[in-house]
Amino acid sequence: MEDCIFCKIIAGEIPSSKVYEDEQVLAFLDISQVTPGHTLVVPKEHFRNMLEMDGEAAGQLFACIPTIARKVMKATDAKGMNIINNNEEIAGQTVFHTHVHLAPRYTEDDDLNVTFVAHEPDFPALAALAEKISNA
Ligand code: 5GP
Ligand code: ZN
Repeated sequence: MEDCIFCKIIAGEIPSSKVYEDEQVLAFLDISQVTPGHTLVVPKEHFRNMLEMDGEAAGQLFACIPTIARKVMKATDAKGMNIINNNEEIAGQTVFHTHVHLAPRYTEDDDLNVTFVAHEPDFPALAALAEKISNA
């Protein structure tokens, strides 16, 4: 797709530090390196984000993630990894071509901060919402 930075990387028009490639998927180091080894895994076909993909395309993308994630872990000696996918601006997406972040973790105070704020469970509300989602 024109004007898509990741399509340009896939086409070789913009340089990247590639770590994995097959027919459908490319993985390369994120230019920002939130933590050392921070890698992006992208489908070669352009999709705006995961919300636009079908099961087959998403399956091809996710099928190679464990292999790439283990390669990154092995090369970096990280202690763990966050695997993150942002969809739409409100969720932090800034590049609108589906990508999965592999962010190796080294210490609790490294430069990635993922926080879930927990709330007291409201069981009737959970049941109602689960029904609404399952019927949607
Ligand atoms: P998002 O915020 O959309 O989830 O993540 C987009 C990521 O793409 C950011 O972490 C950013 O550093 C990375 N990025 C943006 N432009 C480039 C680029 O030209 N090359 C590489 N390797 N990464 C990029
Ligand atoms: Zn694209």
